[in-house]
Amino acid sequence: MSDIIQLLPDHVANQIAAGEVVQRPASVVKELLENAIDAKASHIKLIIKEAGKTLIQVIDDGMGMSVTDARLSFERHATSKIKNAEDLFQLNTKGFRGEALASIAAIAHVELKTKQEKDEVGTEIRIEGSEVVSQEVCVTPKGTSISVKNLFYNIPARRNFLKSNAVELRHIIDEFHRVAMVHADIKFDMYHNGSEVFSLPVTNYRQRIVHIFGAKTNEKLVPVEEETDLVKITGFVCKPEFAKRTRGEQFFFVNNRFIKSAYLNHGVNSAFEGLLKEKTHPSYFIYLTVDPKSIDINIHPTKTEIKFDDEHALYAMLRSTIKHSLGQFNVAPILDFNR
Ligand code: ADP
Ligand code: MG
Repeated sequence: MSDIIQLLPDHVANQIAAGEVVQRPASVVKELLENAIDAKASHIKLIIKEAGKTLIQVIDDGMGMSVTDARLSFERHATSKIKNAEDLFQLNTKGFRGEALASIAAIAHVELKTKQEKDEVGTEIRIEGSEVVSQEVCVTPKGTSISVKNLFYNIPARRNFLKSNAVELRHIIDEFHRVAMVHADIKFDMYHNGSEVFSLPVTNYRQRIVHIFGAKTNEKLVPVEEETDLVKITGFVCKPEFAKRTRGEQFFFVNNRFIKSAYLNHGVNSAFEGLLKEKTHPSYFIYLTVDPKSIDINIHPTKTEIKFDDEHALYAMLRSTIKHSLGQFNVAPILDFNR
């Protein structure tokens, strides 16, 4: 038999990669917000229409891109964030895989406008299904604006699979929260179908949480604070009497990245032992800072799961720190179970 293997064209490879990176509009929101943060923006605006199905636009006032970089940013494995394999073990940026823009551009109509501070004029590039449609000089402020229109226009199966606008918007807001919660030093605005959804001023962690979840949250929060060689823990747990029947507000951030961890969640829950009504779950907002060398983020494209070198020690630390905080704030066991 003759040889039958061939290399896939780039646009096909990009479309396949997109299947992993972009599950729904919220995935695009996450990638674009993270890029704006990596670009050191101090003000980030998210504009969406029809729950992101027709438009997702992120405007930042970050460092912008040169003409060459603007074009290169849509190539797969093109990144300014790592240079070699060693860098993977000391990541200080959200991105590093260099596949988000390439993936998004493979399955949507994308318009990029970008300008660096030192340049007089900026660059505008339009891409549809990995094809560059136009590239022009443009007048635009310092920073970057990326518009993603008609997501999945060329993958009907994916487009049909999208949920109602209410559900997709919920996912987008969740991603927005997760990013905004760790970057209280950045101003964030969000608009949906022309109306303001959030306008978050620069502040601290506590006030950012309060701005997002409402003024009543303030009285519920108990600060959690600890620092050892292994980890710095900061953040808040909600007082046990405010525990909920649903697992809504449970957040772990590791080195400014939202992560999911059933194991650490168990650690937090165990610190509440004897303090919770049956079938309720404590809310928490926990920010962990660890040596980037002690974690592996590169186990999944969406980076919400990570591997810790010493998960058991982290669990123990978390548990004892939260126990201590709850004790210190005189949070007594609940006696009235009928409340
Ligand atoms: P990654 O973030 O993993 O590097 P992306 O595909 O998300 O990959 O972006 C590719 C590159 O494009 C980035 O490394 C960065 O240099 C550039 N870039 C993307 N978005 C922005 C932005 N908002 N501002 C400045 N540069 C950006
Ligand atoms: Mg990125």
